[in-house]
Amino acid sequence: MKRREFLMAASMIPTCLAFAADQACATCMDSEELTKAREKLTFLEQIPLPYPENGLLPLFSEQQIKFHYEKHHLSYYKKLMQMISGKPEEELPLDELVIKARENTDEKIFNNAAQLWNHNFFWLCFSSTGGGVPEGTFMDAITRDFGDFHTFREEFITAAKEQFGSGWAWLVKDGKTGLLSIFTTLNAENPLGTHKIPLLTADVWEHAYYIDYQNRREEYLKVLFDKINWPFVASIYECPNAQKRWG
Ligand code: MN
Repeated sequence: MKRREFLMAASMIPTCLAFAADQACATCMDSEELTKAREKLTFLEQIPLPYPENGLLPLFSEQQIKFHYEKHHLSYYKKLMQMISGKPEEELPLDELVIKARENTDEKIFNNAAQLWNHNFFWLCFSSTGGGVPEGTFMDAITRDFGDFHTFREEFITAAKEQFGSGWAWLVKDGKTGLLSIFTTLNAENPLGTHKIPLLTADVWEHAYYIDYQNRREEYLKVLFDKINWPFVASIYECPNAQKRWG
């Protein structure tokens, strides 16, 4: 899509403008690529994988990603679209739909919308060239709130490992205090609409890792850290529009 067409399409969905390319964060280190990636977090769709299905090796085999993306993730999208077809929800950005479904205690729509969003976010959190450690003000925040990066990594892996059953581990920024914290959620639950800005997630449903790691969830989580897309994670931390939208 050309930029002009994109802007016209974006202008038809006013609530999406908070992340639109023409409103990129002027105050933070950013790039058009990162702005576009963040904007995908509003799309009511299964976003394209940001890399080929073998693009996260050795974290995930091609078969592991194929089942996860083409079967599990796609199924949440299909079920959601069947449920909201022809209804006003079809016009909402996905993050708003998740929040509204939770408020309305519409469990079936919430579960599928949240799982669609969680997976879109999950794929964006990693890249074929990921890993290492974050930089800049985001790294300063990690040091401030966890002591050092190593401690943060250990705490995140422990929380994710100990989540009982299916769910997600999250690194979030508090919308009021700006402080970072880690917590886990059960099944489809996520931080959207709870004044916690999601920065990073790990899928700990068995379907996320069972083909490659079987019952070895901790090993999966350790390798996961080698593919984290820190510039993307840091860009959400620094993005005033993310703060407005979720904080
Ligand atoms: Mn999953």
